[in-house]
Amino acid sequence: MDIKEKRIIEVVNTLKDDIFDFTSRLVSKASTLGNETEAVCVMEEELRKLSFEPVKIPIDATELSKHPGYAPVEWEYNNKENVVATRKASGHGGRSALFNGHLDVVSAEPSSFWARDPFNPVIFDGWLYGRGAGDMKSGVAAMTYAAYAIEKSGFGLKAPVTIQGVIEEECTGNGALACLNAGYDADAILIPEPWGPTILTNQVGVLWFKVLVQGAASHVQSTSSGANAIEKCFLIISALRGFEDELNKPEGIPKAYSTIPHPLNLNIGVIKGGDWPSTVPASAEFHCRISFFPGVSFDDMRQKIIQTIQKIAEKDTWLHKIPPKIEFYGFRSPGHSISRDIPALQTLNDCHKELTGEDAKEYISTCTTDLRVFHLFGKGQATCYGPIAENIHAANERVNLESIINVAETYALFLSRWCGLIE
Ligand SMILES: [Zn+2]
Repeated sequence: MDIKEKRIIEVVNTLKDDIFDFTSRLVSKASTLGNETEAVCVMEEELRKLSFEPVKIPIDATELSKHPGYAPVEWEYNNKENVVATRKASGHGGRSALFNGHLDVVSAEPSSFWARDPFNPVIFDGWLYGRGAGDMKSGVAAMTYAAYAIEKSGFGLKAPVTIQGVIEEECTGNGALACLNAGYDADAILIPEPWGPTILTNQVGVLWFKVLVQGAASHVQSTSSGANAIEKCFLIISALRGFEDELNKPEGIPKAYSTIPHPLNLNIGVIKGGDWPSTVPASAEFHCRISFFPGVSFDDMRQKIIQTIQKIAEKDTWLHKIPPKIEFYGFRSPGHSISRDIPALQTLNDCHKELTGEDAKEYISTCTTDLRVFHLFGKGQATCYGPIAENIHAANERVNLESIINVAETYALFLSRWCGLIE
């Protein structure tokens, strides 16, 4: 590191408490689906305080639904906004950068499983606890302050840097897509997903669907005259588990995923049905998330899921008569695979190595992130590199404090080398 870079790293370290404080304020807003506004406002205020010029980017469903990357949803898009700020270049000749972080979180239920209130963040023993602490509000704070540290150190950049706080990463990706569609893109994109200080090169595709089963209600004294919709769900779920096994057969696994045990997962995330212990339930539904390898299309997977369910339905007298309905909503994201030798990832690795003495490990992801938007529809080279977190999407989520600052340091160094510093 030269003297300027050392100065930037020092400044990042003077901002530690601000980074933790900003993270905590974001975590205190329970930004689950439909409740994202307050967290977006906290970010907007922070950006303004740090002399960025934030603008809100709405998700306009009418407009965005024409985009091939749009994921259809079952909810309304009224006043759903992302927040974006671009700091203009102070010179020319550099390469632009964009930090993208999501402000939405998954539900903290059952909250009784938590040792403390998931939305009242606390810090102890070097960790910050709360829903979204790791996934990914600490990353948002790190990236924001990394960009701020450049200016606070008295430098400018030879190319613009954009900061995005987006919503709906956990269900559709429509937040990030709306920002890209509004023209926010860059030569390099970094997302601080909490997989640790690694460089993501592969991520699977993910889709959501739900299955609606109709049964026939009857009194339990004559259950044979009814058709139990809940038990019919079991039948379909077991067929889908068979499909999942097929997908994970060794001969179909690409090289990048060959060392990961069971890389593709089906999750039955929601099940509903029935309303009385002594009545045979007349309807039931379950909602699923399933992943697929890079190179496979959403349409292909959709077709295979429909065929799997049709096949089992034909074998069952009741389901043959009244076939289940299958609806695809939310995620419909293809996966992607890139080389870690491309320039932006190399620069990121150099920065990591400069600060730690080691190459960053490569990360092969078995879930999806907003990277898809940039890979499929943007111009830049994009990866994830973030803090170390535990129990994300589970009770007692926490993020390691030191790792947040390490991300901010790497990001700040990345900006200075990728965009180019100006005094
Ligand atoms: Zn996340």
